[in-house]
Amino acid sequence: MPTDESRNATTVTGGRRRPWVAIAVVISLVVGWATSGDLIYHSLIGLDSSGFPAGEWIQATLAPGATKAIGGLVVAVAILLALGGVFFVLARREAPARPDGRRAFLAGSAAGVGAFAAGLAGALGHTFFGIGKSGGDGWLGVQNGVNSNDGIVKTHPTWDDAWKGARVRSYGRLGRTEWPISDTVLGAGRIREADWKIVTGAFDRGVNYIDTAPDYSTEGSELAVGRALKEIPRDQVFLATKFCTPIGHLPAGTPVEKYKSVVEESLARMGTDYVDLVHIHSCDEVERLMDPNVHEAFDRLREEGKARFLGVSTHTPRLEPVANQATSSGRFDVMMLAYHHGIWPHLGSIIDRAHDEQDMGIVAMKTLKGARHRNLEDFHDANSYAQAALKWVHSNPKVSCAVISFFEMQHLDEYLHASGQKITNEDVAILERYDRGIIGSYCAPHCGDCLGSCPEGVPIADVLRHRMYFEDYKDERNAMELYAKLPVNASACDGCAAPCLGACPVGIDIADRVQGAHDLLTFGA
Ligand code: SF4
Ligand code: SF4
Repeated sequence: MPTDESRNATTVTGGRRRPWVAIAVVISLVVGWATSGDLIYHSLIGLDSSGFPAGEWIQATLAPGATKAIGGLVVAVAILLALGGVFFVLARREAPARPDGRRAFLAGSAAGVGAFAAGLAGALGHTFFGIGKSGGDGWLGVQNGVNSNDGIVKTHPTWDDAWKGARVRSYGRLGRTEWPISDTVLGAGRIREADWKIVTGAFDRGVNYIDTAPDYSTEGSELAVGRALKEIPRDQVFLATKFCTPIGHLPAGTPVEKYKSVVEESLARMGTDYVDLVHIHSCDEVERLMDPNVHEAFDRLREEGKARFLGVSTHTPRLEPVANQATSSGRFDVMMLAYHHGIWPHLGSIIDRAHDEQDMGIVAMKTLKGARHRNLEDFHDANSYAQAALKWVHSNPKVSCAVISFFEMQHLDEYLHASGQKITNEDVAILERYDRGIIGSYCAPHCGDCLGSCPEGVPIADVLRHRMYFEDYKDERNAMELYAKLPVNASACDGCAAPCLGACPVGIDIADRVQGAHDLLTFGA
């Protein structure tokens, strides 16, 4: 039989416990939503470990060999456990005066478990359903978009019968490498290991150059190429990779051995003894281009038979000094640079110089001008926008080839149908219509005219390029990883009086676009 004293204790303890549980639930719901939800969401998207608080340390300590970043999940769970622990202690502290110590423990446990559960509910609501998340779906929405073909993969809304079975119809010469290169080559940036048949399919249709890199699909691209190379005679394909790791570029001053080892790791992933070409990847500064260590590493790789030619890829506002220095140095055999219809006219003279003075091979990338795939439903003409854009690139005889990202079987038919074809008036009309459609949003990679207008040093062109990867290419993970690595980001715009207003000659509302990019590409959006 309970005594009067114990009955009173139960009532008072229960009366105190209930407010504590309610407080714990409300606060934890909000904190879990705002912190752990973001972390779990970005973990699922596949953000690099460097994008999470202490992410690189957590990765190195708990899962050094993992191919996915775990930092976000670890921190998210730690926050939820901490919430439970705090409310357990607070609720329990209210009860020590009670004669029944077990009830005090139960009161704390109820608050602690309630806090953990509420925090988890808030986090999962944010993560999966996007509850309260501005401007976007939760993970279920993203996943749905990634796994369906809606509006993201078909560069043309139909798959014309006339394109089926298209093959390469024209071969040129990759500068002084003397490689007889197909006019259209395989960009493997969005191919993952399971997609290796796209690589063999392209080879079977006559594509004889593959562009990959360790950081494309976080090793997945090189693994896909490696799988495909089991079916492709190695000496019949020209293989290009990059000096970088699966999670990023190597800065100037990286030790020679490190530069060497990243290429050797690429060889291991692709199961080959050599690559034909190694690019200094996405090079935006002359210091990195001419780093003596990377040149020594390349020379040693060449002596050891592990690499044949040296290249540079560049598409940044500092393209001109980088490209010109590459030509002047005489060190580079191939240059890969952004080149597409409507490009900065002066770029033609940079290509001419590289071609005429050094006989460098020129690989044109970004050939679709950042195609806004989701808007191409409007292009119901006989030819696709992609075909018109490729024919425009092929029309420059000093450009050795156009590299384009193949990641759907349709691309084999659609892109290769343009091989060897001359550009027509109809194609020009398609390109002009496309240009009218992107006025005010397309930021040309080479441009940089506005950079001097920003007192905060925001790399406007890079920010907008990463936004393009996210929105137009639907390559959210890569976009967020790249954005996370920028030394200055668009958080600097908060409260800025926007002296960049009017600085863009093609009418981009810079402040609006870069702040929107920040919301898309960072936590807390
Ligand atoms: S709004 Fe942003 S991009 Fe424009 S000047 Fe200010 S900090 Fe620079
Ligand atoms: S925002 Fe405009 S001015 Fe600035 S880099 Fe892009 S295209 Fe050039």
